Amino acid sequence: MNRPSKIVCVGRNYLEHARELGNEVPERPLLFFKPPSALVADGQPIELPPESKRVEHEGEIAVIIGRTARRVKAADAWQHVAGIAPLNDVTARDLQKTDGQWTRAKGFDTFCPMGAMVPIDRIGNRDALEVICRVNGEVRQHGRVSEMAFDIPTLIEYISGVMTLEPGDVIATGTPAGVAPLKPGDVVEVEIPGVGILSNPVQAA
Ligand code: MG
Repeated sequence: MNRPSKIVCVGRNYLEHARELGNEVPERPLLFFKPPSALVADGQPIELPPESKRVEHEGEIAVIIGRTARRVKAADAWQHVAGIAPLNDVTARDLQKTDGQWTRAKGFDTFCPMGAMVPIDRIGNRDALEVICRVNGEVRQHGRVSEMAFDIPTLIEYISGVMTLEPGDVIATGTPAGVAPLKPGDVVEVEIPGVGILSNPVQAA
């Protein structure tokens, strides 16, 4: 896998997920990074670090940048997208709460499984994209892009107004409600219908 220069993530982009953690949807997109060193591919294990007692899945729709984007307008945003992939924004929920800053909670090695990208021109209806997360075959999360507080073009405009997005960079667009803890032996799947399924086993580090 080619390593992106950055993985830009969006927090609290689905109302029901924001509420399940006791938050509201922010007025502006809430951005944070995951380090590219956290990436693992389909089939590779998610390792639960000893520093956390509560590691949770967050199934998400990832946008992969295809053309350099700097201060791009939402209306032009899709021209800068190479494709879509399923992504799991694995999170140490306890450390997220105690640290304040999310870098450690979101940044452990193996905390960013990402599946194969499907080129954007092979995706029929971009406005109908959905993400489903299953653990051991049981559906835990199901969200649609129409439920996002900030849609994908708006996110690209906002993020590219801050930092230059380079080809290969990843935007993780936020997770719907239903996040829950993972334990060793679980298998987590993130599916984007029409794009593919990302599947990762969970093990102790
Ligand atoms: Mg997330």
